[in-house]
Amino acid sequence: ATPAALTAATGSLTRLGLLTTRGHALETLAKATHFVFDKTGTLTYGKMNLLETVALGAVGRERCLAMAAALERASEHAIANAIATAAAGSNDQFSVEETTNLPGSGVEGKIGGQRYRLGRPAFVAELCGTPLPDALLQVPEGATVVALGSEDAWLALFALGDTLRPDAAYLVNGLQLRGKTVVLLSGDQEEAVHRVAQQLGIATVRAAMTPQGKLDYVRGLQRDGAVVAMVGDGVNDAPVLAAAGVSVAMGGGTQVARASADMILLSEQLPHLLAGVDIAVKTSRIIR
Ligand code: ADP
Ligand code: MG
Repeated sequence: ATPAALTAATGSLTRLGLLTTRGHALETLAKATHFVFDKTGTLTYGKMNLLETVALGAVGRERCLAMAAALERASEHAIANAIATAAAGSNDQFSVEETTNLPGSGVEGKIGGQRYRLGRPAFVAELCGTPLPDALLQVPEGATVVALGSEDAWLALFALGDTLRPDAAYLVNGLQLRGKTVVLLSGDQEEAVHRVAQQLGIATVRAAMTPQGKLDYVRGLQRDGAVVAMVGDGVNDAPVLAAAGVSVAMGGGTQVARASADMILLSEQLPHLLAGVDIAVKTSRIIR
């Protein structure tokens, strides 16, 4: 494309709320063969709410929730916000020491000298040393489930719900009509991820992915010759956003995601991404 055409295209996209931060973005977007999406915060609003708390041992639900909220002070994840909101006003207050936040897995910290983990069940199981009790039947179907556990025991399960963005299907369908392969990569559990994929008609799906797993998956596509456009929002998406041919961060996403991306969808209007692809393709055909 000519520099003038590129400047004009970048301007049109900015007016749509799709900001270009790196020069190569439009040209790579025009050539993209695969569109890889994160789920939470990208295809869904990422505004989670706590649906249910299931106590697994002797500690009551209220107390478990307050402990979880204390651990989540280390995180800005949608799950952390949902748990903090649900625990607000609780009488139990815990102070946490030595907190660590593992993007894509959960949080860890010490309460009263005892080590706790909150996050994906596999991450918590590493600390508890026993398999997760069979309580999953007690949570709503398709919910995101995180567990709380200590070195001695499993304490609780938290089921969280999120809402699909209403225009996600329009975007996915539009990309597929343009011959693009759409992929869903998520750190969330199988059931919650497959439910979203099914609602959107996405055939290629990987659940329970770590940030490294997402990165390896995209590198694999690239080795097979794919030009990958990655769309994400989280801290966990930063490595894969940086590795993709062209990357788009959601405007409401984390600072790290926005800094790692070539484009930012400030408007958070998913159809604008489709308009972006069309403008990019049209512009790439204008040669001097
Ligand atoms: P996604 O790929 O859907 O955006 P993430 O990679 O952010 O999901 O998270 C993957 C999984 O790790 C979550 O479904 C949850 O089980 C766990 N997790 C990540 N961060 C947290 C946190 N702050 N608190 C609890 N669980 C977390
Ligand atoms: Mg996300």
